[in-house]
Amino acid sequence: MRKNAIKNGQSHTNEPVDSMDNTKKEADVLIIGAGWAGLSAAITLVEQGKRVYLIESAKQTGGRAREVKIKNIMFDNGTHIMIGAYTETLQLIQKVCSSSTPYIEKDGLERQSLALNYKKHRHPEINLPPIPLPAPFNIIGSFLLAKGLSLKDKVCILTLGIKIKLNLIKLPADLSLYTFLKRQKQTENVIKNIWEPLCLAIMNTPIDAASSEIFLHVLKEAFFNSKKSSDLLFFKTTLSEIFPIPAEKYIKKHNGHILLGQKALSIKKQGSLYNVTTSSLQILTKHIIIATPPPAASKLLETINNQTATNSLINNLNQFHYQTICSIYLQYPQNLQHQRIMQGFLDTVSQWMFDKNIQNQPGWISIIISSNGPHLKMDNPTLIQTIIKELSLFYPHWPAPIDAFVIREKRATFTASVNINRIRPANKTTLKNIWLAGDYTNTLYPATLEGAVRSGLKCAQQILSEQ
Ligand SMILES: Cc1cc2nc3c(=O)[nH]c(=O)nc-3n(C[C@H](O)[C@H](O)[C@H](O)COP(=O)(O)OP(=O)(O)OC[C@H]3O[C@@H](n4cnc5c(N)ncnc54)[C@H](O)[C@@H]3O)c2cc1C
Repeated sequence: MRKNAIKNGQSHTNEPVDSMDNTKKEADVLIIGAGWAGLSAAITLVEQGKRVYLIESAKQTGGRAREVKIKNIMFDNGTHIMIGAYTETLQLIQKVCSSSTPYIEKDGLERQSLALNYKKHRHPEINLPPIPLPAPFNIIGSFLLAKGLSLKDKVCILTLGIKIKLNLIKLPADLSLYTFLKRQKQTENVIKNIWEPLCLAIMNTPIDAASSEIFLHVLKEAFFNSKKSSDLLFFKTTLSEIFPIPAEKYIKKHNGHILLGQKALSIKKQGSLYNVTTSSLQILTKHIIIATPPPAASKLLETINNQTATNSLINNLNQFHYQTICSIYLQYPQNLQHQRIMQGFLDTVSQWMFDKNIQNQPGWISIIISSNGPHLKMDNPTLIQTIIKELSLFYPHWPAPIDAFVIREKRATFTASVNINRIRPANKTTLKNIWLAGDYTNTLYPATLEGAVRSGLKCAQQILSEQ
């Protein structure tokens, strides 16, 4: 792991990953977009000996889940966490990391049993403790022993949990999560203090717009599979170090090519192949995996000279909406003690706080705010002051922060709204040998690393199975 690189603020991501000796390339598969979806597809294809080109418009790989250099330190482009149910992502991390040195999960990730704690000003904390039992008894036990919830609250949560576990919930049509929870007789207290924060954390979508279908899918995957599937996994390195950088090395080692700073501009049919152009390159290829977010995918599909085949797909892609995630990083003295890596807050602009000590950034914390809210109307200095004031309510003994900055990712995730699953495209398109990968495709997950990885794997596996 690049501990020194983090300390010194060095990154190798600006180095060219591949030298371009000419302007014409030939590939079996061209992948457009080197986020976690594109990288996953490339790994699977190069392993099977395919001639793969992966082109990326940015100067580094990783897409939305990448490191950024700020104040000479490598931070994440917004704090990410994973859960134990991200099985495909975890396997791929294991594979690419151990291809150079033996990789042990705990070197890169801190795995903890599910436990949640929310602070609410002038109210008792809500605390769901970790319970060392197999699923679903760990979750049942956690709610039974929870502090800050009434008996009525606990009964209504557990009743819903049992119904989900026993598959007794049949949704005739997708509903907003709020409507669904009201129909399931959840108390306002439980909706506000348990389901709404979870909805924002999982789906980055307001509870009155969020798809209950997607939410239930995540609950089933996380809470009712195995005890480990609900584990929380925190990154001990930057996002780039744990996957995109080792993935680059793995792809190159298997003779794949990664070209950075290459934005795909158009796709044209040329005989039985496709010709993809960037500002300086032409790549002739049999297959194309478009692993960009929907707006870029839609623009590229518009350039293909077969409009009738792409019209309805383009129409679907243009119907996606997006949600912001705002990350406020604050630096405190290094000796400041934190009770937990992740702390929730209720009834404040701040939603979650993460201790960045774990990522070798001593003294730094990040505050995460999902979706809409008053913070979107604040400029950065006002937002930072608002957060500092809120933190002083919960931690009156903390000194003033030494430094602060804000990262606003305006299109952090697609809005996981009611019926969105109806327009999420399949990986295989109606255009021969053109594939779509990305967190927005029909993975059943909300926008997540696991959804992105699964979509990339699926494209690659289908291409390989068609040979
Ligand atoms: C702040 C933040 C916090 C998040 N937190 C979590 C979390 O805790 N857990 C979780 O699971 N998920 C989280 N997510 C979501 C997760 O980051 C995404 O779901 C995932 O990274 C999407 O990967 P992707 O490969 O589908 O798309 P992207 O990462 O968007 O990759 C697409 C790539 O395509 C490139 N591209 C676009 N157009 C072109 C073109 N014309 N030519 C060439 N390249 C192009 C882009 O530059 C980009 O690199 C978070 C996202 C953000 C922003």
